[in-house]
Amino acid sequence: MNKYEPFSDVPEYERTPEGIFGGDAGLKHFNSVPTRLVAEGLAVRFTCLCGNSNSVTTTWPELVLIAQQRIPQGWRYDERGVAQPLVPCRACGRAVGFGLTPDECKRTIEQGISAQYISAAQVQAIAQAVGSVRR
Ligand SMILES: [Zn+2]
Repeated sequence: MNKYEPFSDVPEYERTPEGIFGGDAGLKHFNSVPTRLVAEGLAVRFTCLCGNSNSVTTTWPELVLIAQQRIPQGWRYDERGVAQPLVPCRACGRAVGFGLTPDECKRTIEQGISAQYISAAQVQAIAQAVGSVRR
């Protein structure tokens, strides 16, 4: 029984340094992507493959949804386990290349509560409103 180690036979994920479109997804893999908490949510600045710098703000309701493993409108689910905003680069129109994992959204929400950008009660209210729509 204890000969079997869970996950021991799972091969290492391929983590390629080829940029935001390669390898695993999620902001934690994009160390060069600066993020900043703002009143509206999480501002992410990223540089497109074309060289243009874009800024995308993920709002608190969107963060709450993704933290609940749901995909907000205007986002898509990527099979690497992240939600990606359907936002085109302002210069070339290519889809943005960053994604957010539910864990990252949970951490961001906790930081937002500590920074008093949003209250725990507001997060709860958003989560409940979403839950009732879904039913
Ligand atoms: Zn571009």
